[in-house]
Amino acid sequence: MSWLAGCQPQEAARPTITAANYLTTIPDPKTLGETYVSDPDHVLDPSTVPALNARLDSLDRSGRAHLDVVLVRSLGEAVPKTAATALFNEWKIGRRDTNNGLLMLLVLDQRRVEFETGYGLEADLPDIVCYRIQQRYMLEAARAGDYDRAVQQGVAAIIRRLRPAAGPTRPALATAADSERYRLDSLRQALLAPSSLEEAPADPLDTALPGEAPPAAYASPEAGLPLGTLLVAGLALVLYLVLWYCTTRGRRGRGWLALLPLGLLLALVVPTLQGTLGTGAFMALAYGLPLLYLHGYFGWQYRRAQRQVAPTERPVAYGQSQAAHRGLAFTAYLFPVVLALYWRWYRRHLAALRDAPFACPTCGQPMQKLGSEAEKAYLAPGQVVEERIHSVDYDVWECAAGHRLLLTYPNPDSEATECPACHHRTLGPGRLRVVQAATTKAAGWGWRVAKCRFCQHEEQVREPIPRLPDPATRAAGSSASSSWSGSSGSSSSSSTSSGGSSGGGGAGSSW
Ligand SMILES: [Zn+2]
Ligand SMILES: [Zn+2]
Repeated sequence: MSWLAGCQPQEAARPTITAANYLTTIPDPKTLGETYVSDPDHVLDPSTVPALNARLDSLDRSGRAHLDVVLVRSLGEAVPKTAATALFNEWKIGRRDTNNGLLMLLVLDQRRVEFETGYGLEADLPDIVCYRIQQRYMLEAARAGDYDRAVQQGVAAIIRRLRPAAGPTRPALATAADSERYRLDSLRQALLAPSSLEEAPADPLDTALPGEAPPAAYASPEAGLPLGTLLVAGLALVLYLVLWYCTTRGRRGRGWLALLPLGLLLALVVPTLQGTLGTGAFMALAYGLPLLYLHGYFGWQYRRAQRQVAPTERPVAYGQSQAAHRGLAFTAYLFPVVLALYWRWYRRHLAALRDAPFACPTCGQPMQKLGSEAEKAYLAPGQVVEERIHSVDYDVWECAAGHRLLLTYPNPDSEATECPACHHRTLGPGRLRVVQAATTKAAGWGWRVAKCRFCQHEEQVREPIPRLPDPATRAAGSSASSSWSGSSGSSSSSSTSSGGSSGGGGAGSSW
């Protein structure tokens, strides 16, 4: 094969491009004469390069953008996006004042195209538009192995985007001041002739095609992080945790069960951030998984409720069902269509546990529930007080033969506790009686006094009062300020492509 190497003698000396050396091995187009294309592996047809250079030179002279095109067969293990950013910053593509640099990098073995844009181009070429140019004009040709066409179509689309056919032709802008004057002139014209705004056709690159699902990261043009996704993920996390808390309350092993929602959340967020899970799929999962979970949980509650309950076991079943649904009422609003029927059934189920008539356990005759006034005759005075302060509710059932059954329903929401003196649930929540107030120097203490609403017994518990926060420490804590440091210019060269720095914008597509 030595005769082949002899055809291209200058190639024999060039080392293979690897992840370690690509920054120094890929030639900067500027070093190849007045050119914008770096094609060290000779991927492009020899006739394509001069044509591209002519178009890119004209684009550069217009002041709109300095676009460098790079094609390599391989970068070794290097990530194309990382390489694009590194090459952009190494070559300082674009003008320093307007930051109008743009790098198009094709890595053949990884089947990847990356655009890297300077700050000055991010308004005209937001990430989503870069992505659409790749998707609509480059990938099909790249898949077919026609890299000449892929690059030419991509370059043409970028130039169309930067110089809309409908607008007035832009003069060559030598300086930033010219550029600013031109912008003001265009603005003035647009304001004087508002109809020209309406006549300008919309750029199809601004709208998504049906079925086009760009990675979530490109949805917001300036932010690197998909803010909406993170917001939804945060809400989903709160929802998962609330569901976990309310459905595992009082169960053994609930700590391990908490790993389930957290794991689900990671499985959602990680592929979304990597761009492998579309926003639609993400939303469906963030909303659908909790619904699926609730479906299973409520289905279990429904089956549990179907078993026969003896009259004397009704208060226990009632309390269990209430506890199993505590804190979950909001799901009726979150999933109104799916859960409306369930919650209607649940309320009927609870009511039946209180009111459904049953046969007397002693004589088998039907029993009747006494009204709230009639039942008082059969309640102890302490029980009447419990009913009055809503700590316990009593139902008295009576049959025709005079057998009576007393059913006790404690109120889980009541703050009253059992009185140690009379043993009724009539001890009110205590009030703090301060004996020594806390200061910024020392903690204080007081008596927490709880009084029984029935027997007037008083319970006193000594309670410490924490030291007050020192105002001086608080001020010091909040005065810590953060400083913002801008980046300084890194090059003093006066070439047209010598000061650009990438804002991290751009997009990548695989073919
Ligand atoms: Zn009876
Ligand atoms: Zn008492």
